[in-house]
Amino acid sequence: MALLQIAEPGHAAAPHEHRLAAGIDLGTTNSLVAAVRSGQAEILPDDQGRALLPSVVHYTADGAEVGYDAREQATDDPLNTIASAKRLIGRPVADIKSLGEGLPYEFVRQDSSVPRIHTVSGDVSPIEVSAEIFKVLARRAKDTLGGELSGVVITVPAYFDDAQRQATKDAARLAGLHVFRLLNEPTAAAVAYGLDRGADGVHAIFDLGGGTFDISILRLNKGVFEVMSTGGDSALGGDDFDQVIAEWIMDQAGIADDANHKALRQLMLDARNAKEALSDAESVALDIALPGGDRWQGSLDRETFNSLVDPLIRKTISACRRALRDAGVDAEEVKEVVMVGGSTRMPRVREKVSDFFRRPVLVDIDPDQVVALGAAIQADVLAGNKPDEEILLLDVTPLSLGLETMGGLVEKVIPRNTTIPVARAQEFTTFKDGQTAMAVHVVQGEREMVDHCRSLARFELRGIPPMVAGAARIRVTFSVDADGLLNMEAEELSQGVKASVTVKPSYGLSDEEITGMLQASFEYAEEDLEERKLVEARVEGLRVVEALQSALAKDGEELLNTREREQIDAALQQLMQAIDAQDAAAIDRQAKHVEKVCEFYVERRMNTGIQEAMAGHNINEFE
Ligand code: AMP
Repeated sequence: MALLQIAEPGHAAAPHEHRLAAGIDLGTTNSLVAAVRSGQAEILPDDQGRALLPSVVHYTADGAEVGYDAREQATDDPLNTIASAKRLIGRPVADIKSLGEGLPYEFVRQDSSVPRIHTVSGDVSPIEVSAEIFKVLARRAKDTLGGELSGVVITVPAYFDDAQRQATKDAARLAGLHVFRLLNEPTAAAVAYGLDRGADGVHAIFDLGGGTFDISILRLNKGVFEVMSTGGDSALGGDDFDQVIAEWIMDQAGIADDANHKALRQLMLDARNAKEALSDAESVALDIALPGGDRWQGSLDRETFNSLVDPLIRKTISACRRALRDAGVDAEEVKEVVMVGGSTRMPRVREKVSDFFRRPVLVDIDPDQVVALGAAIQADVLAGNKPDEEILLLDVTPLSLGLETMGGLVEKVIPRNTTIPVARAQEFTTFKDGQTAMAVHVVQGEREMVDHCRSLARFELRGIPPMVAGAARIRVTFSVDADGLLNMEAEELSQGVKASVTVKPSYGLSDEEITGMLQASFEYAEEDLEERKLVEARVEGLRVVEALQSALAKDGEELLNTREREQIDAALQQLMQAIDAQDAAAIDRQAKHVEKVCEFYVERRMNTGIQEAMAGHNINEFE
């Protein structure tokens, strides 16, 4: 269970046992792998010195090729060349259809929830496509670092939901990697700048790539990053900047809109080159091929460029404003602004973002590499190579935490994937009259029944003042702190009796176990529901039996004549039989029958002054 794993004193790897670990930025267009070497995080290039690996897989009859060679095939063999798998991963078929008919792949028609694409080497899912990319990066890391990786940290967008995260993790496992953990991309960027080691506060991560724009507002709280809000535009990026420049050139050079496809592609490339050159130069010379074979010469200066791209930049600023509003913070509260993505190299973007947040933006680290470098730093820590450094940055609970309630059911208190630190309280009550102690059993897992979850701890709350069943109010507070330690506290509210225990789930579950448990919770969902219904019915039935027996013992003789007593006893008998027969519907029926038969008795009790203990209770209750 990587997320809650804390290095135990004495268990951290000794300095000489440096364990190999890497950080992987699985991007929509390009992916990178990085590692900490000699104390420094660095990108691991391929054998030709190239840092990036295009996130493209080309399937052939013999297998798959990945990267630059695969990307070359996109035009000639589009059906077998899968790019942008990140846009598809972890999303159901229905979602993908809505992503647009624009995708050039042949999706296999099927009912399964995981989409599959038809290729010459068989049908593949986005998970398998991503696994191919992971394999290449893992091999690169192994070859460069000279050994097996003990684990990796993989970055995912902060807005990725559970299915997308799980699918990314599954892809890495499929590639034979041990995933220490998934890390949010903005968090990784913040780590690369060492913001996690600075003072607590709010930071903004501005990520403008080739095709997407993401803004994330993070709060660093005792070494833990909480994602306060995310925003952006999944269809805004450097490509749009190229487009406006290309349109300007067409206008200047008198190129008609209906120029052929090849010419337009070349024009887009020229526009991109001009845009990138203008990040360093004040003006750029243009030499553009015209459709008729002639050439057009001109130049584009920064001022003109700025006026062309400002409307696009304004869109990003509006998204920043919205994200701040969602996070409930003002621009002045933001301490650092981290720039991520190739398009943040544009001076105009830096200037406008800096104006908006009223502070200089962080640009020292290569904006294409910053996420992978942060992941590498985190991987190094999680591998145990920094025994002196606390493993913080635990940002979510990987499995739900809950309590056992009557009948072996689980009441979830903190659902999985909740950002930590977190504290949640839940109130419980006693089951029996005069109950003075309560056993609290803490479990972890997604299933409905205690037996199917993992038991974390048991503790007792003693000294509950004797009251009628249901009258005591016991509040159980779960808190998971920044160190990943779970703390439990139970308190009886009317008298303030307290009990607590600290649970350290670090001996925890392996990732495989987590996957197994999650799978089981999906597979057994229906079965669990039936079981839950029965258990709930039995608990409710037994409560009625208990309460009625206790009332009868107190004043049955006094308030009921023989015939009335026989009637009630008969109804009680039928209810107990239904409970024994384990039939949820029959239990419900008989419990209702008992309540009906006893209505006059309850009323009589109310009227004879025994009702003090009943104050505030429903008339149908027996307490
Ligand atoms: P990414 O997806 O983060 O790799 O970003 C790629 C985008 O960054 C493309 O649109 C590039 O044109 C853009 N980009 C890369 N370098 C520069 C630069 N020096 N100036 C402006 N844009 C750039």
